[in-house]
Amino acid sequence: MSEELDKLKHKEKSGLLAAGLNILLPGAGYMYCGRPILGIIVLPFVIGMIFVTPAGALGIWIVLIIDGFLAAGRYNKCLAQKIDAAMKVCPQCAEKIMPEAKVCRYCGHKFGEAASATST
Ligand SMILES: [Zn+2]
Repeated sequence: MSEELDKLKHKEKSGLLAAGLNILLPGAGYMYCGRPILGIIVLPFVIGMIFVTPAGALGIWIVLIIDGFLAAGRYNKCLAQKIDAAMKVCPQCAEKIMPEAKVCRYCGHKFGEAASATST
């Protein structure tokens, strides 16, 4: 596996951790999910809401917990698209395979020198 793809796969975020962070500190879950500006805006907003309408603040806090979980899902979906874009497509079977692959794991198609050597 290429190092770049390996790094991308290890960047996957946990939805439960994002939700848990938003429980402890509203906005921290967004920071964890790669949205630091949203995370910074959310905390003073929720604290301000406590003084205006505590019930409203509680409602927003619950929404943030759920959205923190969903934010991790959105982040992972975007990450999966990046991983997908880095894969190469087999010309024979059109399956996506690792960029360094010399042989297609689906159909056995050989890339590069091996392919030109076998074709007569
Ligand atoms: Zn193939």
